Amino acid sequence: MAKILIVEDNALNIKLFCDLLTAHGHQCETVTDSRTALDSARRFSPNLIITDIQLPHVSGIELIRLVRADEALAMVPIMAVTAYSAPGDEERIRGVGANAYVTKPISVTRFAQTVEDLLAGEGQEKSGPGTGAASEGQ
Ligand code: MN
Repeated sequence: MAKILIVEDNALNIKLFCDLLTAHGHQCETVTDSRTALDSARRFSPNLIITDIQLPHVSGIELIRLVRADEALAMVPIMAVTAYSAPGDEERIRGVGANAYVTKPISVTRFAQTVEDLLAGEGQEKSGPGTGAASEGQ
């Protein structure tokens, strides 16, 4: 069982994602207003954050930046979900710190597999020295 925070402004997607995650035995918490996402994440302390990119107020890109800059949340895997997929988008989204990128409409199988991979610690190809192996004595 993992704790997964979903940041998404579309009610149907929230229901779909949450039903899927719950069916896989996970606990989900949802945030529809991205302005409160960082606070919710700090409180909920998720094992994974799933965020939409097209969000009012604070965009998914900006939210990923904020999470990566947050001391307590910086290492939490992030899966970006987006309907908008222009050339260069994936690089941009991964560039700010997302570990995985899934396009809408989602494939249920791919969505579930990506979640499990991220929870298993895969997909974090950008991990530098010191990640994974614990830094001794620090
Ligand atoms: Mn949206």
